[in-house]
Amino acid sequence: MHDDWKPRTRMVHTGSRRSRYGEVSESIFLTQGFVYDTAEDAAQRFESLGEDEFIYARYGNPTVRMFEDRIASLEGTEDAFATASGMAAVTGALASMLRAGDHVVSARALFGSCLYILEDVLARYGVEVTFVDGTDLDQWRAALRPDTRAVFLESISNPTLEIADLRAVADLAHGVGATVIVDNVFVTPVFSRAVELGADLVVYSATKHIDGQGRALGGVILGSRDHIRKVVEPYMKHTGGAMSPFTAWIMLKGMETLDLRVRAQAEGARALADALSDDPRVRVIFPGLPDHPQHALVGDQMAGPGTVLALDIAGGQEAAFRFLNALEIVLISNNLGDAKSIVTHPATTTHQRLSPERKDQLGIAPGLVRLSVGLEDPADLLADLRRGLDAI
Ligand SMILES: *Cc1c(COP(=O)(O)O)cnc(C)c1O
Repeated sequence: MHDDWKPRTRMVHTGSRRSRYGEVSESIFLTQGFVYDTAEDAAQRFESLGEDEFIYARYGNPTVRMFEDRIASLEGTEDAFATASGMAAVTGALASMLRAGDHVVSARALFGSCLYILEDVLARYGVEVTFVDGTDLDQWRAALRPDTRAVFLESISNPTLEIADLRAVADLAHGVGATVIVDNVFVTPVFSRAVELGADLVVYSATKHIDGQGRALGGVILGSRDHIRKVVEPYMKHTGGAMSPFTAWIMLKGMETLDLRVRAQAEGARALADALSDDPRVRVIFPGLPDHPQHALVGDQMAGPGTVLALDIAGGQEAAFRFLNALEIVLISNNLGDAKSIVTHPATTTHQRLSPERKDQLGIAPGLVRLSVGLEDPADLLADLRRGLDAI
């Protein structure tokens, strides 16, 4: 579908399905189900569903389908399944393909809920998971086995912004026939090259940059048509993690401005990282800075540095709290990718549940603060961050 269009054009138009009224903006098909002209017609649709036919909104819906087509076109995959949240996408991508006795290798540095799925839930269903340091190829090599079915990683880890060498990990995983599942939230769909580097399934929390305005929860699983329709869809449609049509409409509108927003936010993040990089009160972690440990990978595996930075504030938790409490523009919250800049203290919020040893191992220091850069003027944000640093 219009493969010759550039990404920004596809993000505005691809997937649109106009009704006979010829509406400009995508319609919200806020309906649970669909009517059949005849009993034969119903039987026919249940027997084999056409490209543009629907039965029940848990299985699919025209507005949701528009979003799936649009995001798949941007990511460069054949197909997509939209989900109720990012976690429904992560869980669905894993659970739809795994069974008791399977082995999974996962990077250790994960979003708290992802860690819960991989560490607690999968184990309960008899799936064995080996955790590795995602940046250490020797650990991946040692952990992979002939019975490894899947590999899971966040392409940039949350909150410490470590970057796994996706091409190398995918090559190793494919060597044993494992499916590579990438949670790509921090890279964003705009900067993603995950498919070209070897990801088989790409997962997003659409709650983050795709909505980007803090309105709705959503997620998406992207991959080959075969895998999405034969493995993911049966699991998702029967377990009930479908995206609502109204949310899909929000995400479609988000896609129209996604490129502009993400690029502006990444520019803001870079400006702030540069301005704070020689401030002795804070150590700045940002993939776009030359001193980031995996900076060399950034140019190759992502088309931009992302919109999030981590700040390790001298003086530990007390100083970090004083910093947060002094901010006037940047909000204390736990979303990211939003138009509003948001600051989080992972050790006491998103990663609170981890033991002190585990936090230590993952680099979640008491002074560590995650900053998601929004669309405000970077000069105002810099003044706000300096106000925070002056307060420590
Ligand atoms: C937020 C997030 C999720 C979960 O997404 P929800 O939409 O909140 O369910 C999963 N992975 C990463 C990396 C995230 O940042």
